[in-house]
Amino acid sequence: HSGPIHSGDAQPGDPDTALRPKRLAEFIGQEGAKDNLRVFIDSAKSRGEAMDHTLFHGPPGLGKTTLAQIVAGELGVGFRATSGPVIAKAGDLAALLTNLEPHDVLFIDEIHRLSPVVEEVLYPAMEDRALDLIIGEGPSARSVRIDLPPFTLIGATTRQGLLTTPLRDRFGIPVRLQFYSHDELDLVVTRAANLLGLDIDPAGAREIARRSRGTPRVAGRLLRRVRDFAHVAGKGTVTRAIADDALTRLEIDRLGLDAMDRRYLTMIATTYKGGPVGASALTAGLAEQRDTVEEVIEPYLIQLGLIARTERGRMLNDAAWEHLEMAKPILKPDTPQTGLF
Ligand code: ADP
Repeated sequence: HSGPIHSGDAQPGDPDTALRPKRLAEFIGQEGAKDNLRVFIDSAKSRGEAMDHTLFHGPPGLGKTTLAQIVAGELGVGFRATSGPVIAKAGDLAALLTNLEPHDVLFIDEIHRLSPVVEEVLYPAMEDRALDLIIGEGPSARSVRIDLPPFTLIGATTRQGLLTTPLRDRFGIPVRLQFYSHDELDLVVTRAANLLGLDIDPAGAREIARRSRGTPRVAGRLLRRVRDFAHVAGKGTVTRAIADDALTRLEIDRLGLDAMDRRYLTMIATTYKGGPVGASALTAGLAEQRDTVEEVIEPYLIQLGLIARTERGRMLNDAAWEHLEMAKPILKPDTPQTGLF
């Protein structure tokens, strides 16, 4: 199980909801994605058609759900949300699709986790706006085709490569979300503080931004924790010192790595002498889900240049040894590496 900071699932009624920007202009960062979306939204509106099916991919908490809601809002159409694991049967998806109003957005989070039978129903729905349903059983069973209203499917996934090829090919607009810069997260933190009615000085906001793992959801969560610490300490304004103290107590280090990230790095450093080590061995050693390791922990460590994913496995870069304040083991030239395998 992943820690609370890592969790990618937004629960209904969760504190994230209050912080969601409603318009594209309010959405901070992801400039390339926003520019493209603006074009597709405007063009769909001026043609009076449903926007093309769109796939958002990128690590959890970067704003995929938020952007999907924004797209529906900007298009001025209805928004229905569900997720891959929730749609158990083909009939569940058929019910969702037949209830859509023309041009609505249907958002499917974790779309890579749809079952194969449900995916089969989705193909003609996306391509021909039709459902092929089998009515009845045995010799009297027959297939009927039901036309669907024009709609936009927006899928979200942590990695594009997790989708089957036929599903991936049916999205006209793939959009990759990137980790946020410190400047962008600074704006996210300041905006969220305003919405929460919290007084924060620029250095305090900067400190939280720098330690948010490039992720707005983490920024929001850390801000709420820092607010709690400030409140208990009887401080009215969040300063750099208060933020630093609170984040240090939460075991968030100066790069924004949490205990799990450091356990990952330390395991490669000590057990595997810096690697290379395969994903399975690491996942077992950490007692973590492989998904969490590959979709949540590693992308940010790669982004920071702390590790590299090579063909032979994961390796620590020099920056990781420095961050861990450990000496990199020196391989003797007379010890051929290949002899180890
Ligand atoms: P994802 O679907 O990619 O996991 P969400 O859309 O649920 O991410 O976003 C997580 C949280 O981060 C939400 O509270 C949202 O308000 C906030 N957030 C995400 N992107 C931005 C952004 N660009 N600007 C401001 N807040 C953001």
